[in-house]
Amino acid sequence: MKKIVDEFLDLVKQRNSGEPEFLQAVEEVAETVIPYIVQHDIYYGKNVLLRMVEPERTISFRVCWVDDSGEIQVNRGYRIQMNSAIGPYKGGLRFHPTVNMSILKFLAFEQVFKNSLTTLPMGGGKGGSDFDPKGKSDNEIMRFCHAFMGELFRHIGPNTDVPAGDIGVGAREIGFLFGMYKKLRNEFTGVLTGKGITWGGSLIRPEATGYGNVYFAQNMLEVKGDSFEGKNVAVSGSGNVAQYAAEKVLQLGGKVLTLSDSGGYIYDKEGIDAEKLAFVMNLKNVKRGRISEYIETYSNATYVEGKTPWEVKCDIALPCATQNELNEQDANTLVKNGCICVSEGANMPSTKEAITVFHKAKILFAPGKASNAGGVATSGLEMTQNSLRFKWSREEVDNKLKEIMSNIHDSCIEYGKDDDGYIDYVRGANIAGFVKVADAMLAQGIV
Ligand code: GLU
Repeated sequence: MKKIVDEFLDLVKQRNSGEPEFLQAVEEVAETVIPYIVQHDIYYGKNVLLRMVEPERTISFRVCWVDDSGEIQVNRGYRIQMNSAIGPYKGGLRFHPTVNMSILKFLAFEQVFKNSLTTLPMGGGKGGSDFDPKGKSDNEIMRFCHAFMGELFRHIGPNTDVPAGDIGVGAREIGFLFGMYKKLRNEFTGVLTGKGITWGGSLIRPEATGYGNVYFAQNMLEVKGDSFEGKNVAVSGSGNVAQYAAEKVLQLGGKVLTLSDSGGYIYDKEGIDAEKLAFVMNLKNVKRGRISEYIETYSNATYVEGKTPWEVKCDIALPCATQNELNEQDANTLVKNGCICVSEGANMPSTKEAITVFHKAKILFAPGKASNAGGVATSGLEMTQNSLRFKWSREEVDNKLKEIMSNIHDSCIEYGKDDDGYIDYVRGANIAGFVKVADAMLAQGIV
């Protein structure tokens, strides 16, 4: 088996040299899915996985815009249309200086499996730009978003490709992007998700990734007869995903000890309660400040510069910041300190070595493509509401989200249960996500 996996990975490496994040994501999938493929004659010899690692289309384009001082700025824009076997391409846009082909291909590849797991009819894609929104004025953000959409609009559409937000792209950016798309097409359609509530957005969409992650962790804990009640929880990040993960933890009786950003983390041993969380939401979403400013108001808390929160003793860890933010050493520290559950809110926040540590220790570990699927699932619900020209209540969307997360959890158990009863959620998510897409690809022939 190892030989087949190695041969496959060698070929993918040759074709994608210089793309470490993409290769990391493919490796994790190949190691769990190839054994399944080999056991199942219908996939074997058909090179389905080889087709899946090649994007159907990659688009790269120039984005020129004028900054507030009148200077012309040039950025690079991308859209990876990875796989459309089960529905229109679907996935977020990331605006961050680290954005490149490797990062977007890994995200698009993960998105294919994630979207399949939701059971909604969505293919996978991802896009973005190396544009850095940090420190930019609202007008600069608007001019950049308009310029970006000035090219992207010809590649997307409600039945072709439906982008949404990701790191650096929130409600404000989706508004500017939608405005330009609508102007250029002269059409009001559900082309982007994460839209404002008065112009086609879905209730619960802002909360969905964070809430969904906690619902998934809740499902995992229930298998062990456990819950969030009274648990100490370390959360990384302080953006949309982290904020709403923290909110849901509080609602379920847990204590949130940490939050972070790219500068460092805050540790509040008394717990970040609802009032303090509201302060963080205002600090981050309105003032666009740094998490370090938390300790100016809550002086009992500490700020640890340049570090991630995994050294803090906790029962549950929710990495909600970015890829590879939790390494082998962090994983060992978490396990040593008694952590029983890690549920990824970000995409691929744990390194491969860290996941091996969690699996060896037999603690609960959920990969982002399963546990953070609530965001895109609710985007799928937004698309449905747009098509119906209808709006569901908060409660209706939240109930559907809970049901989807619970179904994803069931799928992971179906394909991920080891002989000794341990649930390998990585294998479960990869195989469950793969089967649906592979079946559709085989049914549609070689295209
Ligand atoms: N960027 C989010 C993700 O990683 C959401 C994508 C979407 O809603 O299309 O899944």
